[in-house]
Amino acid sequence: MFMRGMNQTILQNFQIIENKTSVSKVECCVCGKGLQDGHSISAKTSPNGIVLFCDVHYELE
Ligand SMILES: [Zn+2]
Repeated sequence: MFMRGMNQTILQNFQIIENKTSVSKVECCVCGKGLQDGHSISAKTSPNGIVLFCDVHYELE
């Protein structure tokens, strides 16, 4: 139940990102790894806009 809600929120974030940028690739802004590399990507909002982090760099930020 909880995980399903989390996944839905992440998917909604991706849709927002795709609408705001011309870049359709979802990848970490630090290392460039993405879903295609087996990493989970999470979105964070910053003063500069929405930035994406992989599972590793999301914890560091
Ligand atoms: Zn990363």
